[in-house]
Amino acid sequence: MTFRRIRILLLLGVLAAAAGMTWLEQSMVRGWRAPLAVAVIPVNGDGSVPAAETIRALQAADFDDINAFLERETARYGVKQSPAMQVALLPESKQKPPAPPRDGSVLKTVFWSLKLRWWVYRQSDAWLPQLGTIKLFVLYHAPQDGLALEHSLGLQKGLIGVVHAFADPRQTRQNNIVIAHELLHTLGATDKYAAGGMPVYPQGYAEPELPQHLPRREAEIMAGRLVNAAGRLVMPPSLEQCVMGAMTAHEINVDEGFRRRFASGR
Ligand SMILES: [Zn+2]
Repeated sequence: MTFRRIRILLLLGVLAAAAGMTWLEQSMVRGWRAPLAVAVIPVNGDGSVPAAETIRALQAADFDDINAFLERETARYGVKQSPAMQVALLPESKQKPPAPPRDGSVLKTVFWSLKLRWWVYRQSDAWLPQLGTIKLFVLYHAPQDGLALEHSLGLQKGLIGVVHAFADPRQTRQNNIVIAHELLHTLGATDKYAAGGMPVYPQGYAEPELPQHLPRREAEIMAGRLVNAAGRLVMPPSLEQCVMGAMTAHEINVDEGFRRRFASGR
């Protein structure tokens, strides 16, 4: 066998193993039979003092409103789980996760996704991958006027989220909106906003039965923004003003999880 063929076989083997792991993990987290296991790993995103201070002061309780949101919203679709998730706050990672390719070509993205999963596995310091644990890397950045953060992302493959957040206690509640959004991506939820950040009607709106032009006070979590009474596109102050729409609930299998439970007589 030529070297080239061996290389291709090896790559196919890695891809098959990764696909098998994805399937197994997805069936674990999308069954809604137990609280989601979520590991939060803080990272100093810009090497700044505010980011270091924010990380030093972090507590698992800082993410409590994500649990409250998940409990409240999944309950509307029939899942009764308290808590909905359990957060383990892990020590800071001194390394940053590999950045996604800028041009977004399919092949580069596939390689990057494998690289990211391999990187996360090595970070875990464990012999076996922690199957079924959602790993959220939160990169803190000192807030600066006019500074836009890099795009956060959440991958179903490997249950990995990379979240860019502001190192400012006043931003904690909005950071949690971004974290919840990326967490739901890892469970299979898709974005519900269009170019420019406008929510897609009706699935990206709270109270989708109302006409689109009416102002809203709440945002659908996978749209992340709402159009308020002043006609402005804004992010709500906290997860208390966020809802999970029917399409998102379906994508993360909440309604199916409920149906199965109900059918099994529980
Ligand atoms: Zn998104």
